[in-house]
Amino acid sequence: MAKGKREYVWLECKECSNRNYRTSVNVSEGTPKIELKKFCSKERKHTVHKIRRK
Ligand SMILES: [Zn+2]
Repeated sequence: MAKGKREYVWLECKECSNRNYRTSVNVSEGTPKIELKKFCSKERKHTVHKIRRK
């Protein structure tokens, strides 16, 4: 087992709030402040995505 608490989260588009990706992150120290440039399937372009926990 990996160290720390891992949780599945959404990667949500900052522009249209579409939840495009699922990933697992280490949340033992709170929600990571990660922003990733990802392809948004709704807008059909690359936008910044942020982590959204349930
Ligand atoms: Zn979008």
